[in-house]
Amino acid sequence: MKLVLASDNKNKLREFRTLFENFGVEFLSKADTGFTEEVEETGETFAENARIKAEAVMRATGLAAVADDSGLCVDALGGAPGVHSARYTGSHADSDADRYELLLRNLGETEERGARFVCSLCCAFPNGDILTAEATCEGSILFAPRGANGFGYDPVFRPDGFDRSMAELTMEEKNAISHRGKALAQFKQKWETYYDHQ
Ligand code: IMP
Repeated sequence: MKLVLASDNKNKLREFRTLFENFGVEFLSKADTGFTEEVEETGETFAENARIKAEAVMRATGLAAVADDSGLCVDALGGAPGVHSARYTGSHADSDADRYELLLRNLGETEERGARFVCSLCCAFPNGDILTAEATCEGSILFAPRGANGFGYDPVFRPDGFDRSMAELTMEEKNAISHRGKALAQFKQKWETYYDHQ
């Protein structure tokens, strides 16, 4: 069967393709289907945004579509940047460093540093069925950036149980504990159960 990933992010496409190896699923990117529209993320939660993106692509292509939405929620900032993580400084054009520097400035010297990464996945099928998965990675915000791996807010996030930042972990270490790694594992299980009952 064909499944569209509602994203043109090559890393995400590679992760999904690896996960669904041996499943008889052909993964297409949004671009492969000729869908060029930018879907507006108007939801207030990661789950709402994942569903908005998955349903828009499913309706436009007539194929089952999977979307993900993720971000960082910081307790002392009332859950910000949350669903606005990718545009925290107000512009997609700013760099990851611009965004995490703003986060560090907004947090200041407060000792309350608790935070979590969240990843929500949604698969929308043409018959109206929906499969969802969501997972978090708990941790805290450092006082200064460390490490050069990963992307986004990784240099300022220390996952619980580690004395290194997310950007100091290897890809394998990060995938084993990350919000996205855990949401994908949960999603795969739900997918297997869904197909066992068809
Ligand atoms: P989106 O899910 O592609 O809309 O992007 C969410 C934003 O959240 C990214 O641009 C990053 O700023 C942030 N983010 C999501 N996952 C991670 C991660 O694993 N590490 C660091 N930042 C992340």
